[in-house]
Amino acid sequence: MFVSVLGSGAALPTGVRRCSSQVLNINGFKILIDCAEGTQDRIRQHHIKLQSLATIFISHLHGDHFFGLPGLLSTMHLCGRTEPVTIIAPAGARQIIETTFELSGNHIGFELRFVELDFAEGEQRVFECPRCTVDAFPILHSVPTYGYRFTEVPRGVHVPRVYTYCCDTAYDESLVPHLQGADLLCLECTFADDLADLARERQHLTASQAARLAALAGVNRLLLTHISARYKDPQLLLDQASATFPNTTIAADGLVAEVATKKEQP
Ligand SMILES: [Zn+2]
Ligand SMILES: [Zn+2]
Repeated sequence: MFVSVLGSGAALPTGVRRCSSQVLNINGFKILIDCAEGTQDRIRQHHIKLQSLATIFISHLHGDHFFGLPGLLSTMHLCGRTEPVTIIAPAGARQIIETTFELSGNHIGFELRFVELDFAEGEQRVFECPRCTVDAFPILHSVPTYGYRFTEVPRGVHVPRVYTYCCDTAYDESLVPHLQGADLLCLECTFADDLADLARERQHLTASQAARLAALAGVNRLLLTHISARYKDPQLLLDQASATFPNTTIAADGLVAEVATKKEQP
């Protein structure tokens, strides 16, 4: 089980960091998580078959997580797709996508199955298949936003591995119960610690805040993404986060991170 980071930047894309998207591979079953502009190019660069992505999770409808979706679906159609695609996203995604295709005169020759999320507290099972289950939980941001916990359906005797994706969010310790049990926790980390006021205002995390949430939840490993374009070198963010949570990695475009239990790690 591993995650390929296609885009690790915050709202402003740069030549080094594109905006958010990832592909989670659970024993060969591939899931797209967030779909910023340019995601379809990144999928090609990673040699991932576009048509193998039949399940798409969107954290929220901000453009840096969502604006690549109409183009991606259009390309799937042009490449001859007939199989349905399931999109799990906050309420409103269906209206945006359907309106985009209707007004642009573009046609999609396959079924879009929307699972729209509209709950303000707690946690709900939003997806199940023979390879994994996925639970969603609302997180604190300027528009409705959901975190997702992907739990592997174990094969043979090994323990199910858990990947949790939580982006974008303000600092909120009520998230901790939802983050517990993650073998790999991917949290946003938009700012360094000196910009805590800006982080609060924009409802994002600093490096130390992300590390503190990981430590409180007792996760195995932390992956920090959604890095502001101002940080050409992310070493400062790594130093600040590692002081609180040592097992931290800063995501980079192209990074492939294993989702492994403590026992499996070298
Ligand atoms: Zn964002
Ligand atoms: Zn956002």
